[in-house]
Amino acid sequence: MVRIHIGFDDIDTPFGGCTTHLVAKIVLKWIKRPWTKFVDYPGLLRFNPGVPWKTRGNGGLVLRIDVPSIEKALDLYEEAIGIARDYIREFTHPESQPVVAAIIGDIPKYVKWLGKKCVKDVVPINLVERIIDIVKKQSNTTLLYNELSSKGKRGLIGALASIGLTLENSDYTYELIAYRKPEYWGKPRNIDPESVKYMDKATEGKTFLNYDYEVDKPLITPHGPDPVLLGIRGEEPSILVKALEMIKVEEPIDSWIIYRTNQATDMHLTRISSLEKARIYTGVIIEAIVSKDPKKIPGGHVIFSVSDGERKLDVAVYQPTGKFREIAYQLRRGDRIVVYGMIRPPSSKHGPTLNLEKLKIIEVAKIYRFEAPKCPRCGTRMKSMGRNKGYKCPKCGYRDPKARKIPVEIPRNIKPGFYQPPPRAFKHLMKPIERYGKEKTKPPKKMINKWCYPC
Ligand SMILES: [Zn+2]
Repeated sequence: MVRIHIGFDDIDTPFGGCTTHLVAKIVLKWIKRPWTKFVDYPGLLRFNPGVPWKTRGNGGLVLRIDVPSIEKALDLYEEAIGIARDYIREFTHPESQPVVAAIIGDIPKYVKWLGKKCVKDVVPINLVERIIDIVKKQSNTTLLYNELSSKGKRGLIGALASIGLTLENSDYTYELIAYRKPEYWGKPRNIDPESVKYMDKATEGKTFLNYDYEVDKPLITPHGPDPVLLGIRGEEPSILVKALEMIKVEEPIDSWIIYRTNQATDMHLTRISSLEKARIYTGVIIEAIVSKDPKKIPGGHVIFSVSDGERKLDVAVYQPTGKFREIAYQLRRGDRIVVYGMIRPPSSKHGPTLNLEKLKIIEVAKIYRFEAPKCPRCGTRMKSMGRNKGYKCPKCGYRDPKARKIPVEIPRNIKPGFYQPPPRAFKHLMKPIERYGKEKTKPPKKMINKWCYPC
């Protein structure tokens, strides 16, 4: 037996996000062959969303297959390139730089390292080229890649990183993606929202981000003209198949595939102990103290600052995050919190800023307003006689030169707890709070029988 890992990236089309559609075509063709044994679900991998320039597509994909010989492995690689070329010819996108890469044999540790690095950091192409040079010198591994466009090899980073990101000792989830028959592409998707709500309730705790109840909208369907009909995200493959059966769809489903993915795992975030370690374009989790009260800025965004005792960092909560933004607006100086999010670079108007993805309030500070004391003789509120000169009663004339303002505790309307944006504001890698406690640490022991259709 020989194992081949084939990675794909940047096979973008005007629809956007269609690398999965190409991979679905390949899977459905190969799964029928007696000599191809898929050893894992197709991998759908998301990388650092904070990368400033577009160095790769939205997400890479990987297929891991056992075949009887190295010749068969090479055949599959060549065939994948051929199918990808046809696909690109049919759905051209002049800006994409698609790449198909393959590793036959064990995945070298540098490639695994690259996979993790691409989720958390900014990876330049020359680093990838250095890794390729090292790997090519190793005798027990064959590394191949093919640039499908003359534009360049931007897709190489994601294609190789997808191979390296094996999700063998880190958390993962699944997504079932269903595709439309070509005659429906570009037409509205007729999916019964009530059936999505029903599915959401029926599979509660096992699927997530199906429906946004704040704005009363299903979240399982994309809105573009692309061939994706819907995607259902969840903890286990079998529940996704059941969930699909609950959805009422007014069109025939062309095909569907279950992917194993790092979506909804917060894999892009790194816990840091001081703000000194908060680098731009990376994602962090840090405990800090609110050092500046929130204010609303034009556009309805909320900005506040946190401090770790030495350094300060601005935190921004964006308008589309609904009630989450209102929670953040109630924070006050002295509150002890944990912030989760990506660090944006400074601009002429602001320093580095954390885009808040999640918020844990650990301790709410006591806050006070100060008011004039009451007259001890008649109970009337006294008037100041000037700064540090004490107070005088306007009714009975009582004077107390030593009287000072009295602190009065202001009730707080937020409580310690974990807060997140509404489901519609979630990006691929963001982990919903409902997933806490469900993290996986080992790959699946075996695959379910029916993880794609028709197969
Ligand atoms: Zn008085």
